[in-house]
Amino acid sequence: FASGSLASRIEDAEPVAVVSADAGSRGGKVVPYKPLLDEAIALSAHKPAAVLMVNRGLAPMDWQAGRDHDWASLREQHLNASVPCEWVESTHPSYTLYTSGTTGKPKGVQRDTGGYTVALAASMKHIFDAQAGQTYFATSDIGWVVGHSYIIYGPLIAGMTTIMYEGLPTRPDAGVWWSIVEKYKVTHMFSAPTAVRVLKKQDPSWLKKYDVSSLKALWLAGEPLDEPTAQWISDALAVPIIDNYWQTETGWPILTLANGVEQQTTRFGSPGKAMYGYAVKIVDESTGEELTGPNQKGVVGIEGPLPPGCMQTVWRDDARFVNTYWKSIPGRLLYSTFDWGIRDADGYHFILGRTDDVINVAGHRLGTREIEESIASHPNIAEVAVVGVADQLKGQVAMAFAVAKDASGLDSDAARLKLEGEVMKQVDHQLGAVARPSRVYFVNVLPKTRSGKLLRRALQAVAERRDPGDLTTMDDPAALQQVKDLVG
Ligand code: ATP
Ligand code: MG
Repeated sequence: FASGSLASRIEDAEPVAVVSADAGSRGGKVVPYKPLLDEAIALSAHKPAAVLMVNRGLAPMDWQAGRDHDWASLREQHLNASVPCEWVESTHPSYTLYTSGTTGKPKGVQRDTGGYTVALAASMKHIFDAQAGQTYFATSDIGWVVGHSYIIYGPLIAGMTTIMYEGLPTRPDAGVWWSIVEKYKVTHMFSAPTAVRVLKKQDPSWLKKYDVSSLKALWLAGEPLDEPTAQWISDALAVPIIDNYWQTETGWPILTLANGVEQQTTRFGSPGKAMYGYAVKIVDESTGEELTGPNQKGVVGIEGPLPPGCMQTVWRDDARFVNTYWKSIPGRLLYSTFDWGIRDADGYHFILGRTDDVINVAGHRLGTREIEESIASHPNIAEVAVVGVADQLKGQVAMAFAVAKDASGLDSDAARLKLEGEVMKQVDHQLGAVARPSRVYFVNVLPKTRSGKLLRRALQAVAERRDPGDLTTMDDPAALQQVKDLVG
């Protein structure tokens, strides 16, 4: 986090202590944390009484006497201490986690203790079909909800071994994950579509170098899993690829296949069926009326009470919890996911994008995701983001930013125009001319959060030549610069 954003979180959470490390390492680069933390505390109106630093020996640190403590020496001091269990109510908060902030001001999602434990235990058995003694490898970051639920708590509650890996999927080479699977005989793996798309751009032979036969399935979550990506990794690993849909707010999957209850077939493009405990409703956004027929498009809502494990409230802001999540759908008290979806006749759901990702082109409402899927099916497109850009004539037009699979031929304007033309023609053909993007720009990377989510809001702002706002969670600052240069 940049110190300003960290400061706002410290102010909101009012922690008595902060635990941090001297630095993190990412893509071979050392990122010092202590200066950011010191500045954040200086900026924050709330001052934590104690700061506990784990010194990894990566970067020098300034120590503030009285406040800062060294983990290693404290550990030495208390090594033989016996610390009794602290009994708490099941509703006692276990943690608060700030949502990633892809859309607007971060909210402190507060989770309980008992319900969360029960939900995770159930999910290990009924979603992951996991048994004690098996090995779980979630490639997430523990700072995100997937990391909390499925690097730390879930596997340990289930008596499994859990693997924590710090690093990128492509360092030192694109085989690193599969070497981990081979070495530790990983049975369950959890990752994100974006990581698979990164690997898809690498030499496919990396996947064949290691013995991954211990793997029972690969679960993917966090963003839409497009069919070509799912197909590619499914062919490569020859295990079921299981999409699952959920949110920081829910803590565990809303939609997936509960293969631990009953084996079900994966339907590419769909994260599956409603998990028990979740009364998932597709509702009309303007009337709140439930859409019960197959393939009707509406907002994905969840009828209360939410199942165990879901957020209790927004940290110290019950009003925000009620007003944001429960009052956005007219006429009824229903939890809104703020995502569009449909349910087919067999109960499989399809997520069509976020409710704020719909664009209106000359009176036609289009989901940016549909346009992205169409563009991504072009053989030379690795990844694409589509945003709606204000247009005097049409209200909004779609604008696309794409990463080519093979960019080597794209060094001339003529070559770029040719590919742009092909992509436009493809969208015309698949979705109709109204969905055709006004421009298709080719970039090296798309602006994303560190967890790999597209920063659509920032992209749209830059495309409209506005200030992109808070970029705290952005991974690579150069990504937006290239977009700025292209848009002019
Ligand atoms: P913020 O709420 O702060 O704007 P965020 O919504 O990106 O950030 P998360 O809680 O990590 O933070 O993400 C949940 C969202 O990610 C879902 O609401 C949905 O839009 C998307 N998502 C998650 N899993 C899937 C999936 N399997 N398929 C499609 N979309 C998904
Ligand atoms: Mg969200």
